[in-house]
Amino acid sequence: MHRIVFLGPPGVGKGTQASELGRELGIPHLSTGDLLRSAVAAKSPLGREAEGHMAAGRLVPDDLVLQILKERLGRPDAARGFLLDGYPRNPAQASALERIVPIDVVVSFDLPKETLLARLVERRVCPTCQSVYNLTSQPPRVAGRCDRDGTELVHRPDDRPEAVETRLRVYAEQTAPLLEFYRNRGLLRPVDARGSPEEVRARVRRAIG
Ligand code: AMP
Repeated sequence: MHRIVFLGPPGVGKGTQASELGRELGIPHLSTGDLLRSAVAAKSPLGREAEGHMAAGRLVPDDLVLQILKERLGRPDAARGFLLDGYPRNPAQASALERIVPIDVVVSFDLPKETLLARLVERRVCPTCQSVYNLTSQPPRVAGRCDRDGTELVHRPDDRPEAVETRLRVYAEQTAPLLEFYRNRGLLRPVDARGSPEEVRARVRRAIG
């Protein structure tokens, strides 16, 4: 069973890896960021509450994220495993996750800060299918359009420099302590996130075993 958590700072490439590997392993890629962005787009009560926190680069309150995560984990396709991307993000969320479902392996991605900043500033995403592009290293075939569905690509508001600084600080203060949490449980598999998506994917495959 593959019940996998991807841990790492914003811009490290977790989402790209999770989406490709999810397809390869036949398990869903569950991104709490994507779930929250859908709630914001749908203007649901939860989305309205999450929106301001997200735009500023802060964490959304734990109870809201847990609600959305439980609902998603309860759907049939997650019963045979999943790749969790963006959850947990603090010790309280890690404890909450342990109470819902056992985790088999935690892959942690590592990249120098300058590379993270460059990747975030150059990132463009498809709001329809969540595909991720990079203006320099992974540009779309037609400028500004998603290769899969032709949707106009967007620069996420929280990928702008002011919010990026906050997100990196939040990661260092609240999420990085989880490395120790999972190391202590013998679940942590660190992966070097430098290089092309294919190179990183080969390392992740080895880490998962
Ligand atoms: P991401 O797409 O993972 O970078 O998430 C984008 C934003 O959604 C984050 O900056 C947070 O505001 C919010 N978010 C995503 N996952 C979580 C989580 N597990 N806990 C709190 N906020 C989250």
